[in-house]
Amino acid sequence: MPSFECFGKNCGFHTSAPSEAELMTKIAEHAKTAHKMDPIPPDILVKVKAAIKK
Ligand SMILES: [Zn+2]
Repeated sequence: MPSFECFGKNCGFHTSAPSEAELMTKIAEHAKTAHKMDPIPPDILVKVKAAIKK
């Protein structure tokens, strides 16, 4: 199951989902509410994808 741990400063958000697509949805929601990224900038998105553990 793909999982993701947020690398945001003092964040510690951790999530997982049955598929990477669902995980991305959860990450996008988190980025929006916790980090005011709506949408996630492309350079951050690259880091997010690299940080996903499959
Ligand atoms: Zn975060």
